[in-house]
Amino acid sequence: MVPDDSYGPTGAPDALLDEAIVLLAQLVAFPTVSSASNLDLIAWVRAYLATFGVAAETFPNEDGTKASLWATIGDASVPGVVLSGHTDVVPVSGQRWTREPFTLGVEGERYYGRGTADMKGFIACVLAVLPRLKARGLPLPVHLALSYDEEVGCLGVRPMLAQVAQRRPLPVGVIIGEPTSGRPVTAHKGKVAVRCDVHGRAAHSAYAPQGVNAVEKAARLIVAIEGMAREFADSGPRDARFDPPYATAQTGVVSGGNSVNVVPARSSFSFEARSTDESELDRFVDAVRAAAERDVLPAMRAVAPESDVRFEVLTRYPGLRTSDAEAIVALAMAAAGAHDCGVISFGSEGGLFAAAGIPAVICGPGSMDQGHKPDEFVTRADLRQCLAFLLELGERLARGQSATANLGSISVG
Ligand SMILES: [Zn+2]
Repeated sequence: MVPDDSYGPTGAPDALLDEAIVLLAQLVAFPTVSSASNLDLIAWVRAYLATFGVAAETFPNEDGTKASLWATIGDASVPGVVLSGHTDVVPVSGQRWTREPFTLGVEGERYYGRGTADMKGFIACVLAVLPRLKARGLPLPVHLALSYDEEVGCLGVRPMLAQVAQRRPLPVGVIIGEPTSGRPVTAHKGKVAVRCDVHGRAAHSAYAPQGVNAVEKAARLIVAIEGMAREFADSGPRDARFDPPYATAQTGVVSGGNSVNVVPARSSFSFEARSTDESELDRFVDAVRAAAERDVLPAMRAVAPESDVRFEVLTRYPGLRTSDAEAIVALAMAAAGAHDCGVISFGSEGGLFAAAGIPAVICGPGSMDQGHKPDEFVTRADLRQCLAFLLELGERLARGQSATANLGSISVG
């Protein structure tokens, strides 16, 4: 029998790694794509926490089909650390998987399944470690925060954060386990996603000039967006830490028309932009609106006065810029054994936590090179490293090291 404290090559006990993998298999088996309910997964986590005496509260969405979860291990009257992950995963439809996406598959050192990297691997590690942290009786609390609808614009975490932000004391910070290959990350770009609906006028295509072709007008705006993306690349502000070092924009979805011999009256497309600078996102959306007003609508209304182009912001989340002076940064770096922090190009809920007064560090197992792709996987070494990180975090919390002098009442261990 392997004793619990027999540490593997990078510090995590083998028994704990085996537990995390069993938990990961259970998490992957819930097909929690963002369009589906996550309630079964949340109920399962709640029951799991209850087995070692931890109560959880849930924050349901409006129609009661999804929920986020918040649980506290330890004394909530002192500032602690949040460990956070999203329970939803991106769809598998249209992807060429060579294995069953919602059954954990093992091949050598790799564990395959939708969400293994993004980001059920982290949640599994956290759930494996929590009973040990509970048993340890930490002087500073650890909070577990699980959200939904992260992949469709960081929507689900917001109602939970609205409540948590009103509580005192606030946690000193959050560690969000998006896949960063175990490296602490303190910055990423913000994003805005917008839907555009073009309303023209239908006509028989033989009399095309009597109609207003919504698909063609949408295409003009899509080309304009492509031009703005090129301007970002050619002459926009630079931040060399990011890949790419400038803002990006693109159209990701387009629809319209239903027959080649009918002038289409409707077309819709969705586009996005990502930037480190919130005001650059504002200027981008304003520029697309202006292009519609200036370059598209006058010609449409000359033929059909009822023509219209409407914009709706689908999602927006802020970028992340966590100061190196935050206690959570020092804590995450120490626990990860890192000498500096990185940046990522993809987004997270980190900026929303920061806006709620909880500074964020992103640090989780696996790589986004595997996230959102078919045959997504995380490796045994990734999980082992994450468990070692969480155990070390626990050690430091046990010594009271979440707090810095500016938090007052708690001494630094
Ligand atoms: Zn993610």
